[in-house]
Amino acid sequence: MNKPAERGAGEGFDEPADIVEAILALPRPLLLATDVDGTLAPIAARPEQARLAPGALDVLLRLAARDDVELAVVSGRSLDELLHQFGLPPSLHLVGSHGAEMEHGAPLDDNETALLGGVTDALAEIAATAPGARVEHKPLAAALHVRGTTPDDATRTIAAARAMFGADSRVHVHEGHQVYEVAVRPATKATALAALRARLGPGAVAFLGDDRSDETAFVELGVDDVGVKVGSGPTAARYRLATPSDVVQVMQLLAPPD
Ligand SMILES: [Mg+2]
Repeated sequence: MNKPAERGAGEGFDEPADIVEAILALPRPLLLATDVDGTLAPIAARPEQARLAPGALDVLLRLAARDDVELAVVSGRSLDELLHQFGLPPSLHLVGSHGAEMEHGAPLDDNETALLGGVTDALAEIAATAPGARVEHKPLAAALHVRGTTPDDATRTIAAARAMFGADSRVHVHEGHQVYEVAVRPATKATALAALRARLGPGAVAFLGDDRSDETAFVELGVDDVGVKVGSGPTAARYRLATPSDVVQVMQLLAPPD
């Protein structure tokens, strides 16, 4: 399978209209899959403060109502947050915890529960060394957030977490903007997209995301798919937009209001 060449940082952003043209040219039905934080919702100082960009929910619902579009939200957030913090309806294909939570998946077994307890305690000990750091509890993971710390503390605490879990084969690490997440069940956005593709059988996939965890999905896209990276930084995606508002604009061009 041909892969698009990796793009460096600072190559500039694409015009929303060009991305819309590329997506409209894809074979149908289209699986349109999108990340949330940094893609549909501006990054907030605290994760619980994040909300969808203006117009995002309306246009998601319009896209989902199309006969030739399957709309999926693929996020590192828990399914509960997707439903209740962001108000995303369960009628969409909602995938939480990087794919570990699909269709209200199986609860943790005893081994996973014990492992998650140990991970949570270890990350809490690291967080306690840096004012402003905190540990978020997720159904299948614990996440060390360092957005509220000094830059030095952020670097030091993430390095400490890496030293502890980077080579631990029992766990699955997701690194993002100012967050180090340790999951006890294997899942990536690539495996989530592959599962959606297998279940829904689309003609092509368009995937939008902003973070390192989204790169696992971008590199697996085929020549008939479209990847859109939001923000700066290296990416395997073919296209690039600047902000969640631009993402909403692309979606509005794909599904104009009546
Ligand atoms: Mg994101």
